[in-house]
Amino acid sequence: YVSIRNLRKSFGTFEALRGIDLDIGRGEVVCVIGPSGSGKSTLIRCINRLEPFSDESEIRVDDIPVIPGRSLAKVRAEVGMVFQAFNLFPHLTVRENVMLAPRRVRGTSRADAYRQAEMLLARVGIREQADKYPSGLSGGQQQRVAIARALAMEPQVMLFDEPTSALDPEMVGEVLDVMKDLAGTGVTMIVVTHEMGFARQVADRVIFMDSGEVIEAGPPDEIFANPKEARTQNFLKAVL
Ligand code: ATP
Ligand code: MG
Repeated sequence: YVSIRNLRKSFGTFEALRGIDLDIGRGEVVCVIGPSGSGKSTLIRCINRLEPFSDESEIRVDDIPVIPGRSLAKVRAEVGMVFQAFNLFPHLTVRENVMLAPRRVRGTSRADAYRQAEMLLARVGIREQADKYPSGLSGGQQQRVAIARALAMEPQVMLFDEPTSALDPEMVGEVLDVMKDLAGTGVTMIVVTHEMGFARQVADRVIFMDSGEVIEAGPPDEIFANPKEARTQNFLKAVL
């Protein structure tokens, strides 16, 4: 569903991504792990072209090329993204945050957007917070709003970049639970995470990156129990 060929990305002379090849099937849940600076965020930011990348590289989402121009809007409508920082609109209520994109981008009627927001907020377990402003919510609640907001565009692919690493430890579980539920619904998910327990339990495939390359990829059982590459072994030794 997402295909990445020879993805290269440089910042000046520094090569952040050095030729990534990756195919992610429809409904597949892929967790990306690796040390700081290995290119994980850059990789997922390239998928909806928040980060421009080399012309020799090719990314397709649902067979649509991720190139500047009209097709990019199509790709972005299919791809939802959740970051470490929640990036909610502070001047809008929780419900308004969720309603905004369908109203603006899709032209969904107010009544339909409202109903959809109620449904999504219930799904992430914060229906009763709908009329509050983001500042009145805990970090975990804000991140769940951010997930609901991304889901409001009914994306086929959800990208997560360390969605729990800015949270107090007691709130990590509630966000991971929402992501676990989502993984069971057939949405294609690419999740950059330091939560090895989550990766182990939820991922169909785990990808270990280092220095802008995919060093090793495979089912979680293999990667965690039996990593083949020394760099993977060392990383896992340090984090597990
Ligand atoms: P972390 O686990 O710390 O989030 P990461 O694996 O997500 O790390 P990236 O943020 O993708 O790593 O960064 C990969 C490399 O590219 C790093 O060396 C980083 O310093 C560099 N880099 C990222 N963004 C930029 C930028 N805008 N300008 C220059 N260099 C950048
Ligand atoms: Mg990062």
